Amino acid sequence: MAKIIGVTGGIGSGKTTLVRYFESLGIPVFIADDEAKKVTQLPEVLDQIKSVFGDIVFENKQLNRQKLAAIVFTDAEKLDQLNRIIHPAVRSQFQLWLDQYQSAPFVIYEAAILFESGSYTICDYTITITAPLVDRINRVILRDNCTREQVLQRISAQWTDEERIAKSDFVVENADTETAKQQIDHILKILYN
Ligand code: ATP
Repeated sequence: MAKIIGVTGGIGSGKTTLVRYFESLGIPVFIADDEAKKVTQLPEVLDQIKSVFGDIVFENKQLNRQKLAAIVFTDAEKLDQLNRIIHPAVRSQFQLWLDQYQSAPFVIYEAAILFESGSYTICDYTITITAPLVDRINRVILRDNCTREQVLQRISAQWTDEERIAKSDFVVENADTETAKQQIDHILKILYN
């Protein structure tokens, strides 16, 4: 049975960039945030969304993600309800995905809200990716073409690095990619031994 390494970190810390490095080393990678978008196409998930949010988030029978996002952005209770629909669906997809990798020593489960969502409980090990705040902000502004205020708003909705680190087995500082890769090599050496 493959051991599950959970990888998390704040927005713009470089999770997706660094899990591609694990992948290049032959370790299968599951990106929970991508899957969270995909599961909103499943009929059973759509039914649950409809029963909680009503027809208002549908347009021509299609889910209107912007409307849904606007509602949960200002309503913590609704966000909680949405998470209670999405996260179990993502975890079921993960279990199906995991079945293909029975003989792999390790797989990666990448999630921005690994701890907030409780998904860390399925992981054997957890790694937090960190980066200087100013770098994270600048990277996200460049990547998403958004404002500094929008990035700060997204950062303030997540746990802090200190909270994530306190619950993690390992930390990787992604100030520069090469040093981060060396830290990952070091962690893998420990895990393989
Ligand atoms: P999110 O939580 O928003 O999905 P993330 O943690 O997955 O973010 P990435 O998408 O991997 O972060 O990285 C954010 C941006 O920063 C990307 O454009 C990426 O190319 C860039 N980036 C990542 N690591 C570095 C680095 N060490 N130096 C410079 N740029 C980097």
